[in-house]
Amino acid sequence: MDDLLIRGGRLIDGTGTPERDADVSVSGERIVAIEPGSPRAARRVIDARGHIVAPGFIDIHTHSDFTLPLNPRAESKIRQGVTLEVVGNCGFSVAPALPGRAPLLREYLASSAPWLPFRETTFADYVAAFPPTAANVILQVGHNTLRLMTAGMDNRALTSAELATMERLLAEALAAGAWGLSSGLFTAPGAYADAAEIHALARVLRRHGAAYSSHIRDEANRVVEAVREAIAVAETTGVHVQIGHLKLSGVDNWGGAAKLLDEIAAARRRGVPVDCDAYPYDTASNPLRNLLPRWVMDGGIAAMLERLGRADVRARLRSDIARDGLTNFGRIPSWDAVRVAVAPNLPDEAGRTFGELARRRGIDPFDAVCDFIVADRGETRILVTSMSDADVHAIAGSPWVTVGSDANALATAGVTSQGKPHPRSYGTHARLLGQFVRDLRLLSLPAAIHKTTGAAAAALGLTDRGVVREGCWADLTVFDADRIADRATYDDPHRYAVGVSTVIVNGDVVVDGGDHTGALPGRLLRRGMKG
Ligand SMILES: [Zn+2]
Repeated sequence: MDDLLIRGGRLIDGTGTPERDADVSVSGERIVAIEPGSPRAARRVIDARGHIVAPGFIDIHTHSDFTLPLNPRAESKIRQGVTLEVVGNCGFSVAPALPGRAPLLREYLASSAPWLPFRETTFADYVAAFPPTAANVILQVGHNTLRLMTAGMDNRALTSAELATMERLLAEALAAGAWGLSSGLFTAPGAYADAAEIHALARVLRRHGAAYSSHIRDEANRVVEAVREAIAVAETTGVHVQIGHLKLSGVDNWGGAAKLLDEIAAARRRGVPVDCDAYPYDTASNPLRNLLPRWVMDGGIAAMLERLGRADVRARLRSDIARDGLTNFGRIPSWDAVRVAVAPNLPDEAGRTFGELARRRGIDPFDAVCDFIVADRGETRILVTSMSDADVHAIAGSPWVTVGSDANALATAGVTSQGKPHPRSYGTHARLLGQFVRDLRLLSLPAAIHKTTGAAAAALGLTDRGVVREGCWADLTVFDADRIADRATYDDPHRYAVGVSTVIVNGDVVVDGGDHTGALPGRLLRRGMKG
């Protein structure tokens, strides 16, 4: 007798083919049969009439390593049907934290992981201590973290001894279970790396059969060059490259989606192993300090806070921004486009824009920004509305672009329910299937499901997840295609998506009748692991 029979649903199997009638049988952790009107017996029958049965969604670009130890139930993600999260992105990982350097890493990541305890750890000990979670997890080691461990926040090329140290730390992380290396070349200290440093590390990845993902060097005025830099890593070393959260920031770059997508599509046609992902929102999220010219962070956070108090520094920052726009984000319409998401030391300001904060104090908005960074000790996280709807629709609506929320798993109660974080934590996948498919008709439902299941699995090199096929892991999501929707907004972000009734991870039911069962069947996936 099987364990589960999902009966009466319309199956969309993740390969991109159209929906069909099929019952799905699960025994243990695997899918064992797919057939219409199945006669098989099962200990439990799940009635899926009127619903879609699909592979569990793959959130291919997330930062849930910052919250899963605090929220192992992965509430905001699993309730959208997400069964696999790829974490450790944008160059940021919480391991390794070498002896004496954990405080530096804590300070560095405070604007992204304000509530996470940090401690000294090797990558292997980090993997061993990772908690059981509701969804499956793929870990990456971050280039910024490795550089912080090796050369701190120094703005310079690595010595050959330092590069050898980074190569060794990378190899150790890969041996311990990291899927690959992520980079965050948009910010210090990753931004101090040249192409040769990244290619040297990519050759380590190549030897381990591992992958590279990148928050590229610029997403605004130099985004095309930055995409080419990422493609060159794949073309030169043969390592698979995932370009994270593809976008065009800054009003001067709006309308460039087709050209940008074509750069990547052309490389794929040449056989270059490159993929990209995107989230379906026009607003990004970042530490506030990253909007400023990079030199303000030279030497670290304490040096930055001291500098920001000086009138001459502010004058130079102001003229740099007038000339170049914001770092990573380009020119924005006004400081009303930037709002506080999480301010650990000024929690009551969450949700306010810098335009509002400046008007309240009767000061210039840029002074309000600098004052805020100092008062919040550099830990502020913000939202920037910096993209055009047309570009977001073209990129996130493209059938071959995979889906990454770029966000943490949060919950409406407990420590992760604080502040006004980006609603993408709660809504990315539901918004794709609700607003993008049903309301805007940007793509078909099977095409959208393929983006976030089969195409994502292929990008990751997974052969037994991301599709509903006999013998594959039983990661499944059952939802109502007429009802699925995101509910989280910028003003009211802590709201779960609706429309997902059942979520199964490795054969265990985690969401049942729309509610979390408390089950934590997720696994840490390792390259080449079969069991
Ligand atoms: Zn990023």
